[in-house]
Amino acid sequence: MLVSEHDYQRTLEYSFSALGMLKRAKIPPYPHFYELCYTYASGINEQLNERLNMLLGKDNALSMENVLQVYREFFDNPSDLESQLTNVSQEMSYKIDAVNRAMDEAIDTAEGYSGSLEGAANKLNTKLDEAALQKLAAKLLAETKQMQEANQNLEEKLKVSKQDISSLKRDLDTARRETMLDALTKIPNRKSFDQRLKQEFEAYEQHGKQFSLLMMDIDHFKAFNDNYGHQTGDQVLRLVAMTLKSNIKGRDHAARYGGEEFAAILPDTDIRGARQIADKIRKAVHAKELLKRSTNQKLGRITISIGAAQVHRDESIHELIERADECLYTAKREGRNRVVCETDEVFRNSKVA
Ligand code: GH3
Ligand code: MG
Ligand code: MG
Repeated sequence: MLVSEHDYQRTLEYSFSALGMLKRAKIPPYPHFYELCYTYASGINEQLNERLNMLLGKDNALSMENVLQVYREFFDNPSDLESQLTNVSQEMSYKIDAVNRAMDEAIDTAEGYSGSLEGAANKLNTKLDEAALQKLAAKLLAETKQMQEANQNLEEKLKVSKQDISSLKRDLDTARRETMLDALTKIPNRKSFDQRLKQEFEAYEQHGKQFSLLMMDIDHFKAFNDNYGHQTGDQVLRLVAMTLKSNIKGRDHAARYGGEEFAAILPDTDIRGARQIADKIRKAVHAKELLKRSTNQKLGRITISIGAAQVHRDESIHELIERADECLYTAKREGRNRVVCETDEVFRNSKVA
């Protein structure tokens, strides 16, 4: 990433100033406290500065309490997704309340109507003259009409509520799906991976259903970022994610494991099958020639290293991940841009050594 000398000096000043503030107040420079003081020093958020100045009071002394308070006010907001989920569930409960109210009204009307019918039946058991009969018939007619209207009203309310609830359910499903996706690459995230691995592991323990695991890591990615910038690095992460996704199929589950690491769960696949898939992914990534769209600058190629392991009897999830990880690091040691399986001699030798 290119940073001008001026920018560098300026940000260094903010950083010293932020640390100075914390040091004077004897507040530990935890990342969130530092972030707050850095923002204060940079002055980019006027409201934040005003708020903190107000809390500082006459003696200008910072305390842990006011730092925490301002941090909560300005930084510690729930993520969009969380507030989206909260909104949907709130709306859902309003709609359910509305349906309940409409039902209660309908029950009241129906009970009233049933009372009137009973009253009419009792009257009919007694001798009535024509005028009284007509009066009774008119009363029943009016009440039947009222009952019909109430029913229609309820039907309409239920229809609208049904549509609202279906659309809210769709929103909720979308929000739920998004909590399982990585924001940058749009492929499943670590949370989704952990869940799926647990399921596969349980299926293996209960029914002996085999599966293999691939752990992948982009080679020399730090240097790539340093040479071409973080944003171009992010594009590469998206490209690797897409390549990974398009080279697995069906019930295989690929995810961004973290940073520049990816993982894939391959159900019903033994280590030989896992090697074939891993090599296909590795070659597909290597085959892409990178081009910076904005400048048409050629950025060469990137490579990935992959470790592959198959689940074993009587091991824990943790042991399985660790073995795949160790294979990955053997692949790195052996020169990168390669796949190492737990059955490979290089891996077995590395365990003996
Ligand atoms: P190795 O071949 O041994 O894996 O070398 P490496 O440089 O890839 O390994 P290292 O772990 O030293 O560096 C990983 C780099 O990945 C550091 C960080 O800049 C980069 N990285 C991690 N997450 C992201 C991200 O979300 N976006 C970008 N652009 N880079 C990231
Ligand atoms: Mg790494
Ligand atoms: Mg790496």
